[in-house]
Amino acid sequence: MVLKRLLNQSPLKDIYQKVEQGTRITDTEALRLYQTNDLYLLGVMANMVREKKNGNDTYYNINRHIDYTNVCATTCKFCAFSRFEGEEGAFEFTHQQIAQKAKEAFEREHITELHIVGGLHPTYEFEWYEQMLRLLKQTVPSVHLKCFTGVEINFFADKYNMSHEEVLTRLKAAGLDSMPGGGAEIFHPEVRERICPGKATADQWLQVHRTAHKLGLKTNATMLYGHIEKYEHRVDHMRRLRELQDETGGFQTFIPLAFHPDHTAMDHFARPSGMEDLKTLAIARIYLDNFPHIKAYWIMLGVRLAQLSLAYGVDDIDGTVIEEKIYHMAGADTPEIMTVQDLRRLIREAGRQPVERDTLYKELKPVQEPALSK
Ligand code: SF4
Repeated sequence: MVLKRLLNQSPLKDIYQKVEQGTRITDTEALRLYQTNDLYLLGVMANMVREKKNGNDTYYNINRHIDYTNVCATTCKFCAFSRFEGEEGAFEFTHQQIAQKAKEAFEREHITELHIVGGLHPTYEFEWYEQMLRLLKQTVPSVHLKCFTGVEINFFADKYNMSHEEVLTRLKAAGLDSMPGGGAEIFHPEVRERICPGKATADQWLQVHRTAHKLGLKTNATMLYGHIEKYEHRVDHMRRLRELQDETGGFQTFIPLAFHPDHTAMDHFARPSGMEDLKTLAIARIYLDNFPHIKAYWIMLGVRLAQLSLAYGVDDIDGTVIEEKIYHMAGADTPEIMTVQDLRRLIREAGRQPVERDTLYKELKPVQEPALSK
């Protein structure tokens, strides 16, 4: 009744009707959604899509992040993580250190996934990456290896004079199981050329993912928002992803990432507000009708807002993570680890059903049903 009355007065009524009928919204309509402050109606629409796709289920996984090095050949203006070789704060983990971290996380936390990314290292041989994957497959054979952003893959192709397909085929043979969604930032050149001129272009990033999908590797996609981009750039970003997903169906999850300015060359910007975060997640859920999942990355969003986002289209709250450097070096004040109990409690408190998943969204039975803690 209340919703009906609100809708009759709302300039978004036509979009609501499309969403209700499962009709795809246009770019212009997505922009209209960005221009509203009616968070309630955005939440209702996003929730409708979310529940049609995933019911009440809310996914999490038990994973560990390993950033193998922060030595990077380029400097993106929004990045607080990278260092040049020999610079204070630079780190490089050896294969043995990486394998040890993986082994400990497997034995102690029962991880099912390793999320591994790093800077664009100027001097490693390509075999370094293959050897790392092989060692991890020997050390923790049952753990899914989700590694290397589209930017890293494009860098390998350039540096070692291979095609994307050759790079991905070799890495897959060495143990790569899927790819994360990082490095997408904002695709539009008006923004990309200003914030990260030295890395893969939008077309290169998309081509890497297209190739990965062709080779049977599932991938994710991100969008870094809340800096110099305009709403038009966000819609353009999602349009390119929606088009590629129509073509390949290889994306699993879209993950909007809130910009963290501390210790970056863009530290004069404020962090996006909670309103902006929820709006961005909800519009993503409404617009990206061909993406199965929308993830709230609690490391960047904050735990409280990530929980709230479960009413704004989000059906995945990421994982335990264990050790995170990229956003903590940019001022994230979230913890670096969440226990399974924490994740399940957050989901339950939001009235949702916690579901442990593997990287490919297969439901897993928790090793031990954790006690419900308040
Ligand atoms: S975002 Fe990635 S590519 Fe850019 S400077 Fe940081 S580590 Fe290097």
